[in-house]
Order: sequence, then C-alpha cells, then structure tokens
Amino acid sequence: MNDPKVTLPFPREPKYGQAEKDAVLKLLDDGHLSEINRGPATNALEAAFTRLTGTRHALSLNSGTASLHAALHAVGANPEAGVAVSPMTWISAITAVFQAGSYPVFCDIEPDSPNIAATAVAQSADECSAVLATHTWGIPARMDQLAKATELPIVEDCSHAHGAVYQGRAVGSWGAAGCFSLQESKAVSGGEGGVLTTSDREIYERALTLGHHPARLAAELTFPELWPLTGTGAAYKYRMPAVSAVIARQQLRSLPTRMLAAEQNLATLRKALEEYDAPIAWPSIGELSVRGWYGTPLTISARVPDPRALYEQCKAAGVPIRSQYEDWTQTPLLQRPDLAARYWPHLAASPYRLPTRDALPNYYKALRQMIVLKVPQVPASDYMEQVAEALATVLARAVLTA
Ligand SMILES: *Cc1c(COP(=O)(O)O)cnc(C)c1O
Repeated sequence: MNDPKVTLPFPREPKYGQAEKDAVLKLLDDGHLSEINRGPATNALEAAFTRLTGTRHALSLNSGTASLHAALHAVGANPEAGVAVSPMTWISAITAVFQAGSYPVFCDIEPDSPNIAATAVAQSADECSAVLATHTWGIPARMDQLAKATELPIVEDCSHAHGAVYQGRAVGSWGAAGCFSLQESKAVSGGEGGVLTTSDREIYERALTLGHHPARLAAELTFPELWPLTGTGAAYKYRMPAVSAVIARQQLRSLPTRMLAAEQNLATLRKALEEYDAPIAWPSIGELSVRGWYGTPLTISARVPDPRALYEQCKAAGVPIRSQYEDWTQTPLLQRPDLAARYWPHLAASPYRLPTRDALPNYYKALRQMIVLKVPQVPASDYMEQVAEALATVLARAVLTA
C-alpha cells in the first residue's frame, strides 16, 4: 500500500495584491521615492507600527538587521560586556551584536519552547550589557520571566512575530525596544526593510542618530547630548525606501486576516494529528497570547533517531516542512575570533568566549526533536487534513524504528 502523500498544492494568495500595486503606483505618481525626513510613506508606516505594538515610537529602517544594530546601540551594548542571545535565531540576531560593538554570550533555550530561557539569562547577566530575545518561529518569548530574571535592557527580535501578543501585550512593547524585519519571507513584507519600536524617547533618538538623515535629526532630536550629531548623524545609511514603506503598510492591513486563517489551519492540523495519536508536544502559548507566523515548530515527543532522515521523509511525503537554522555557534565566524576581528576590530581585545556545545543542552535537543512546518495564511482545511495524515504516517514510522 502506498503511504498517504500531500497532493494538493500549498495554498497561497499572491504575496502582493491590488492594494500594494495601487500604493506603489500612487507613490510613483507623487514622484517621491526617497524621504529624507519623516515623509508621508514613512510616517504612515511608523504610525501603523505604533498602533500594532502600542508603543510611543516606531522608526523605519532599511532592514531588520539595521533595526537590531540601532536598538543594541541605543540600549548601550558595549565592548566590555556581552549581549545574551540564543542560537535558535537567524544569524543577523547574532552578528548585529558584533556590529553594535559588543559580542554574543550564548544562552540556552527553554526546554519547552524555541526561545531564550530566563534561567540561562539570569546566569549570564553579570557578563552582559543587554539581552536580545527572538520570538522564534512566532512563539512569544516569556517576556515577564525574562524581565524578572534581569535588570538589563531587553531587545526583542520580532522578525518572526509581527502581530503576536504575549499575555495581553503586543510583542515589540515588552522590551526596551522591539525589532521587526520586513524582508520578503516575513509575515509583513516591504521587499526589504525593518522597524524599531520603543516607548523610550531616548532610545528612539539614539537609534535615529545611527542612520537617518540630518534633516530628520534636526527635526526630531531633543536630547542635548545628541545635538552635536544633528548635522552628520553617525555614518550609516539606514533609511527605508518609500516604496518599501507603502508596500509594508498594505501588508499590515491584511495581516489580521492572514493570522486568523493560519490559526484555523493550525487548529485543523492539531485536531487531526491528535486523532492520529501523533507523538507531538504542542507549544504552549499561554493565556491572552497570540502567536506570530514564520514557520510553526512542532516538538516530537518520541526519540528521533535520525533528524535528517525525518526531514527527508517529510519532504518526500509533501509535508510543508522548512529546515531549521544551522548551528551558528559552530560556524567559522563564531569559532574563530581572528576571522570576526577582521570585521569588528574591538573583538581582538574583548572577553568573547568560544561557544561550546555543553552549555546548550535544550538547544541541541530541539535541533534533533523539532520540525518546523509552513502553515498557509489562507483558509485551507482540506490541505491541512492531507498534511496531518501524511505527517502522522511519517512520524509513526520514525518512532517505530526508534
Ligand atoms: C529576517 C530576520 C532578521 C534580519 O532581517 P533582515 O530584514 O533580513 O535584515 C533578523 N532576525 C530574525 C529572527 C529574522 O528572521
């Protein structure tokens, strides 16, 4: 007998619809693609992000990486003390720490989530100047526990979690600053782009000095110690193109509908997988919380003897699986300070320590036991039923051979 396979195509709508097209055409008609000040496109997007997150300020930048650099700079990351990070994130959320003049201190993730653990942060806090917490795969990090674990400023990397809420409060509003990538694979795309959110005026202004135009600095800087930078800024070119801003503005409008469809699709999948008794531990998002969408992590509760084979079997069965991030801690850039110091000379004299596997048991367990699915953002219950049947069959086999 043939194993069940997913035969329906992955349900999706075109990434950019009529609203995005109209917005771009209008921008071209207006004739301004470059806003050196807080022009109409920039202003509309920034205002929309303050509404999404409930923060006082939002600053548009030209990438998520730039927003991380700006946020880490603004909260005071420095060469004498590191920044607590988890390895389960995109590499930018590690290299931005170098870029901001500091170095990463790797902390383990929680046993039951893909996010940095408050206990690990508490242990590393003495050697750190800040914490960088990614809401990995859209699962909100436990921000209340992180805040209890340390007095250090926390920067949230919300690049997987646009629109997510933790305990009644939007991600991007819990920490000293929130950072969102608008790169095309993210739930809100501007093609490229980034947004920094904060309710702290000083953090906002310091972030502004890093890469915005003197015209905007002159209009907005209020802190006397930043005034000397008004005419120059500090060297980077981090402004968002207006075309990215108007596209992302429209993507934000459709976000709630897409999140709801994804939520329903995941519920269909979960119900079906529970009926198949599939060995999966479902992430607990918690009360008054809403997850974001950038892949859906599922933890296999039986031992997975060969994670690579499981991945290949899922692919072969048409299960919409995505690969996990590679283990950044073991890459040459992180293991060879001489290499990293070519780009960031401050590292030559920094207390950076090479990451070791022993310090990250939950992370290595998750690399073996976790798969990450793509969930459609349009109604797709038939498709999800097919995925559930195919995945349950693959898992039953993987567990049998365990
Ligand atoms: C995409 C991403 C980034 C980087 O964003 P860019 O816009 O590509 O610079 C940073 N952190 C995480 C977690 C991401 O997924």
